[in-house]
Amino acid sequence: MHIEQASESELKTRLEELYASYDQLAERKLALDLTRGKPGVEQVSLSDSLDGVLAGDYRAADGTDVRNYGGLDGLAEARALFGALIGTTPEETLVGGNSSLTLMYQVVDFAMNEGLRGEDTAWALNDSIKFLCPVPGYDRHFSICEYMHIEMIPVPLLESGPDMDEVEKLVKADPSIKGIWCVPRFSNPTGTVYSDDTVERIARLPQIAGDHFIVMWDNAYAVHTLYDDAPALAPISEYCRKYDTMDGVFQFGSTSKITFAGAGVSFIGSSERNLSTLKAHLAFQTIGPDKVNQLRHVRFLKDSAGVTEHMEKHAALIRPRFEAVLDTLDRELGGTGMGEWTAPRGGYFVSFDTRPGLAQEVVDLAGNIGVKLTPAGATFPYGKDEADRNIRLAPTFPSAADVQASVDAFVVCVKLASVKQRLAELEG
Ligand code: PMP
Repeated sequence: MHIEQASESELKTRLEELYASYDQLAERKLALDLTRGKPGVEQVSLSDSLDGVLAGDYRAADGTDVRNYGGLDGLAEARALFGALIGTTPEETLVGGNSSLTLMYQVVDFAMNEGLRGEDTAWALNDSIKFLCPVPGYDRHFSICEYMHIEMIPVPLLESGPDMDEVEKLVKADPSIKGIWCVPRFSNPTGTVYSDDTVERIARLPQIAGDHFIVMWDNAYAVHTLYDDAPALAPISEYCRKYDTMDGVFQFGSTSKITFAGAGVSFIGSSERNLSTLKAHLAFQTIGPDKVNQLRHVRFLKDSAGVTEHMEKHAALIRPRFEAVLDTLDRELGGTGMGEWTAPRGGYFVSFDTRPGLAQEVVDLAGNIGVKLTPAGATFPYGKDEADRNIRLAPTFPSAADVQASVDAFVVCVKLASVKQRLAELEG
């Protein structure tokens, strides 16, 4: 029954039952954790043959001995393989170390302090520096901004992607807005895939906003589909070529959730001009990336078809965990008005919205019975979810049984908080 149609006495009875269920859960002394957006043990094990795949052959295709120094761009065959995943040519692709977050940080840092178009273009020369942050979004993007004193402006993430009317209005009006964060396919946490129209409008943004503006296109889940019918993402590079905006768009990706989360390979796609500017800065930090790992990845994954085949194995492992979450939410909360949630076709998360004002309470209720949830607010700049609604659920890491136990407890907490709140509303 919908919570707003229940009478006061029905709700009171319900609340007593829910307290009883909650107390029973407390007695079980659970120790569960739905916070971590990381691959499970079986997932990382899918790539164990990275270890040994080189079998003593350390020569890249062009004869380079990958054990030695050099090659700031990354190996040619790695640039071809990973460029193909994000739609950039090998010349427009740089392959780095184990973390795309590092590359994102470096791009923002260079733009801030050195200037992407010469030192007089360094953002730091301005008093006010702002970024647009589609919400809910990825907390580590927000942390980079906070750390660098970049003011964050939240913009709504719609089903089609960021609210582009709002984004275009804001960048036209305010030149202190220097960039936008985007997770265009299976975004963290909502699983949104940006529509073709949104991708095209984002590719045009640097034209509208001007030279100082960059798009941070974090395609962390580019190939992370759960189902064959998962929506494709329009290739932003093609639109960038159409509008001549490749200089204003930085694309990122990594194999963190393809092979080893802590020992994968990251990559960046942008104009050749941008990559040569970046390399000039990078050269002060490193003589070159870990090419041994890059070669291992190329030999292991082979090509785009090899990546797809490998990702199907991941999907087979994590699909049941997502389905446990979604089936339970549908069965227990569907039609009750106690929450809304996404049903992603790929990525790593389910995004749950409570009734307004209850996310923190649900997270606390769950925490008190041993079910750790991502802190309320984490998906918003400065940790502030004004509506106090959003909770990110990450079902990949725990075992299937633990995911089920966690979500069973989660729905009890949601119901308890919702019924209590509704009763308080009725009691005025
Ligand atoms: N971007 C997004 C949107 C993510 O969700 C994550 C991992 N949680 C990352 C980047 C981190 O990527 P990497 O491991 O390549 O640094």
